[in-house]
Amino acid sequence: MNINKMLLSKNKYSRPGIYMDKIKGIVIHYVGNPNTSAEANRNYFENLKYGTNNIYASSHYIIGIDGEIIMCVPEGEVAYHASKANYEYIGIECCHKYSDGKFSHKTINSLVMLCKDIISRYGNMDIIRHYDVTGKNCPLYYVKNTDEWKNILKLIEEDKMTTDEAVAVLKKNLRLEDSTIQFLLCYKFGDELVKRIAQNIK
Ligand SMILES: [Zn+2]
Repeated sequence: MNINKMLLSKNKYSRPGIYMDKIKGIVIHYVGNPNTSAEANRNYFENLKYGTNNIYASSHYIIGIDGEIIMCVPEGEVAYHASKANYEYIGIECCHKYSDGKFSHKTINSLVMLCKDIISRYGNMDIIRHYDVTGKNCPLYYVKNTDEWKNILKLIEEDKMTTDEAVAVLKKNLRLEDSTIQFLLCYKFGDELVKRIAQNIK
């Protein structure tokens, strides 16, 4: 997983430099500005430092439409994304192509990987929507489509099995041939598919 560190300058509007109390979880957001890049959203946070509109906002990470990940604020520092949860929750903003706020497959893939990586470092934690903290319609599509939100959670919670380990389980327990497994891996999310099957038959 490639994380592009483009840390914001310390300033009171978007990177106050306050240490987090304790990291309890992750809050997921949508940027709410269709078809904008992760970098453009990062620069928006950076430019808040001038205080022109007196807006306080930021997040630790932004994930782009093509799955690129930018880190704006180090995990141990507070970012301004979810009011009272700011002191205990890491914020991840996701870009989206259209106004419905639906994330692309690439964005979801990176989001799942990033959350798994954070969990691997801090232990199990709450993964919640901005909506769950303040009732705001964010991330819009996943407030309206609860089942799809649950699907993302399921992907994050899955056991950490590597693709190679999953392939070994499929070969042993289902006696699938290499060519069949390669065929499955070609699907969009093919490696997730192989991992899910492996987990169910292990
Ligand atoms: Zn939000």
